[in-house]
Amino acid sequence: MSRHYDVIVIGLGGMGSAAAHHLSARGSRVLGLEKFGPAHNRGSSHGGSRITRQSYFEDPAYVPLLLRAYELYEDLARGTGREVAMLPGGVMVGRPESRTVSGSLRSARQWGLAHEMLDAKEIRRRFPTLAPQDDEVALYEEKAGLVRPEEMVTAHLELAARQGAELRFHEPMSHWEPYRDGVRVHTADHTYTAGQLVICPGAWAPELLTDLGVAFTIERQVMYWFQPRGGVGSFTPENHPIYIWEDADGVQAYGFPAIDGPALGAKVAFFRKGEITTPDTIDRTVHAHEVRAMADHLARCVPDLPGTFLKAATCMYSNSPDEHFVIARHPAHPGSVTVACGFSGHGFKFVPVVGEILADLALTGSTAHPIGLFDPARLAAAPA
Ligand SMILES: Cc1cc2nc3c(=O)[nH]c(=O)nc-3n(C[C@H](O)[C@H](O)[C@H](O)COP(=O)(O)OP(=O)(O)OC[C@H]3O[C@@H](n4cnc5c(N)ncnc54)[C@H](O)[C@@H]3O)c2cc1C
Repeated sequence: MSRHYDVIVIGLGGMGSAAAHHLSARGSRVLGLEKFGPAHNRGSSHGGSRITRQSYFEDPAYVPLLLRAYELYEDLARGTGREVAMLPGGVMVGRPESRTVSGSLRSARQWGLAHEMLDAKEIRRRFPTLAPQDDEVALYEEKAGLVRPEEMVTAHLELAARQGAELRFHEPMSHWEPYRDGVRVHTADHTYTAGQLVICPGAWAPELLTDLGVAFTIERQVMYWFQPRGGVGSFTPENHPIYIWEDADGVQAYGFPAIDGPALGAKVAFFRKGEITTPDTIDRTVHAHEVRAMADHLARCVPDLPGTFLKAATCMYSNSPDEHFVIARHPAHPGSVTVACGFSGHGFKFVPVVGEILADLALTGSTAHPIGLFDPARLAAAPA
């Protein structure tokens, strides 16, 4: 006899843990299945920090979702006592015409978000750790900052469990099929049935969502931790902002203040530029030439940071062809399956609001949140 649930959530990483929380908070009987352990480091939701910001250069359509995500950060912190977000402010740096600067300004203006434009001299005065070129400017956003991926996943899992969700770790779904009005889900040892299935596969999207018709690419990414020359004193959140920095070639890098004490220094990374890979074949070794390339970049932009290289870790982006998310009822199974994937390296800041949207879609078939941009039909219709 298989056990029956209202909703089964596949993948309890960023998006799936939030879905399990919001669904169980609304009284649904939820089963969550996860391939690895809670808040693990084999997917896309680890490494201690993720940038969050509202003046969104990618597209102004994301802004209302960010406004809601920020409210939910507070609910989550209140509900669990965990510090899931820190908002010390941030700068988007580049030439005025760069996507990072012009796109952020467009979103800020369109949505009336508080921001300041700083020229190179003012950037150096306000943030002495940063060394912009004379022709570079920044959009400063005081509400930018960071979210803590492991804390946020753990907070959502704790609330879900408290609300009665059954969360099973180290139990991957092997396959599923339509069954009566809903679905039947198989793992190595068990079979479960449910009215609704919510699939949050992260980098396993190519494996779990073959019938979605979207050409996802999985991209290897490296995070680096450096000990600043002279220690972390001038790199604390009061002194050193989160930044995204676009160079003249359009390459973006980003960094965080030192938030984990002197031993862990400050974290930096390149945005994109990674090799295409798969979750099973990803090279988890970070090579000396990669560390050197990052140290060279830092020597130009944040000259005191590449004091001592401390450590590095790999992570995966799950890119959709246009780098916008895919959040929808599954077009081939619109009555019983909801998907959230293709977060393209910028999804974590949205985790709580995506959980809310997934609960809406699974329980009512629609949502009041504006998610038109995330409809997979846009990708299926595009020429290959
Ligand atoms: C280096 C790096 C930096 C980033 N920086 C930022 C940033 O600054 N700001 C930002 O907003 N975003 C950022 N992102 C992106 C963000 O972290 C991701 O968009 C987000 O974590 C994706 O969450 P997810 O739930 O889709 O994937 P995951 O958290 O990986 O969850 C997917 C889960 O599915 C599980 N799973 C897979 N197959 C099965 C199966 N068969 N059965 C059961 N479970 C299964 C996996 O084990 C995994 O736990 C960054 C990502 C990386 C890698």
